[in-house]
Amino acid sequence: MAVVAWIGLGNMGGPMTANMVKAGHTVKGFDLSPNALAAAGAHGVEAAASIAAAVQGADVVFTMLPKGDHVRSVYFGEAGILANAATATLLIDSSTIDIDSAQAVHDAAAAAGFRFVDAPVSGGMSGATAGTLTFMIGGESGAVADASGFIEPMSANIIPTGGATTGQAAKICNNLMLFINLASTSEGAVLADRLGLDKQVFWDIASVSSGDSWALRTWYPVAGVVPTSAANNDFAPTFTAELANKDIGLAIAAARSTDTPLEIGEHVQQLFQRLIDGGQGAKDCSMIVSLVDGSLQT
Ligand code: NAD
Repeated sequence: MAVVAWIGLGNMGGPMTANMVKAGHTVKGFDLSPNALAAAGAHGVEAAASIAAAVQGADVVFTMLPKGDHVRSVYFGEAGILANAATATLLIDSSTIDIDSAQAVHDAAAAAGFRFVDAPVSGGMSGATAGTLTFMIGGESGAVADASGFIEPMSANIIPTGGATTGQAAKICNNLMLFINLASTSEGAVLADRLGLDKQVFWDIASVSSGDSWALRTWYPVAGVVPTSAANNDFAPTFTAELANKDIGLAIAAARSTDTPLEIGEHVQQLFQRLIDGGQGAKDCSMIVSLVDGSLQT
């Protein structure tokens, strides 16, 4: 069994580490939030007082942080991973971040003698809890193969994507499609209600018809239909509107750099921006439905 260092124990890192502990690994966790550390401690993660303390003696380090700036700050500098881990330690970043930040960490890790892979995930908090995430992994093939061994208890699918940053490229494109699907699901759900359809009847139809999507089956934004929906819990976050806005922004930035028109994606980003401007950035992204049903005026 391995010694695993884990930096970032939020909505995803929390349940992911629970599955690593269940698989028999020793997990040493660090998070800036005392609440996140305490919650992880309740499922067997040993709290570390610093990044340096977490990575000491680790076979592998995972990071699960909000954005590229967080990942850079955790990897770089005197208190960071590269300055404090042993070079034999495999480094895996599972955050969803911009390609420039991922490339910068790849370059710095290689220069310091480490093996590093970008390994973002799909499947949401429910997939993290069930241990059924999809991992998409970019990097040198030997490091990707070794990373896959550690990832197994958290995943249903492990898919090598190619060289450095290709995992992030796959994730960015996937999430562009996810959030467009979430927006279209929100519009369909509200219109179905206004046309007098029972919410469960409409969901039962759409989920076996051509309107189906992961967003519909997992995040349906109407309370009392899908057990994993944040709508059941007043939109307490499983994936915040802030992070959704970040992800679709990553797609738009990548599209600009490749001269790709994303007319629908840009429109959906404006919806998330309105949620944030309306003070709801920390709520679940599926609250986008409130812009369709009019319960949030912005
Ligand atoms: P989150 O905000 O719930 O958790 C992030 C954690 O990182 C927080 O606990 C925060 O305190 C901690 N953190 C921030 N800076 C830190 C630092 N310098 N040192 C230590 N800890 C630090 O976010 P999340 O929903 O768990 O998402 C994490 C990443 O996974 C994001 O990139 C997100 O886009 C991606 N992701 C999220 C989901 C989802 O459904 N929530 C699904 C797939 C991928």
